[in-house]
Amino acid sequence: MSEKIDLDHFMRATLPKIKKFYEGRYYPLYTTLIVALEQSVRERNEIINPCVWEEDCDGNWETSCDQTFCLDHGCPSENGMKYCCYCGKPLVEKRYAEEDGSKEE
Ligand SMILES: [Zn+2]
Repeated sequence: MSEKIDLDHFMRATLPKIKKFYEGRYYPLYTTLIVALEQSVRERNEIINPCVWEEDCDGNWETSCDQTFCLDHGCPSENGMKYCCYCGKPLVEKRYAEEDGSKEE
């Protein structure tokens, strides 16, 4: 199947109707489908809304989920880190740029 499905639209518009229709009945395949779809949407939302690790002037990494992580060497990607170890979302790093005009003392 090569056709792409807009999962967000499907979840918003179609799923509540299907759920209502099947309410109170037992459909293993249906249940499996719902779980798979919800998982897909959750993963997609995590990609859209990742955990951003922002490097400060001291080389510490401030995370979107309000944690601070210290790396001895290199940046998260150089250490093979793909997910935030605190919230589990995909990790996007934002390196500290000395030339961005910020004055740290
Ligand atoms: Zn996080």
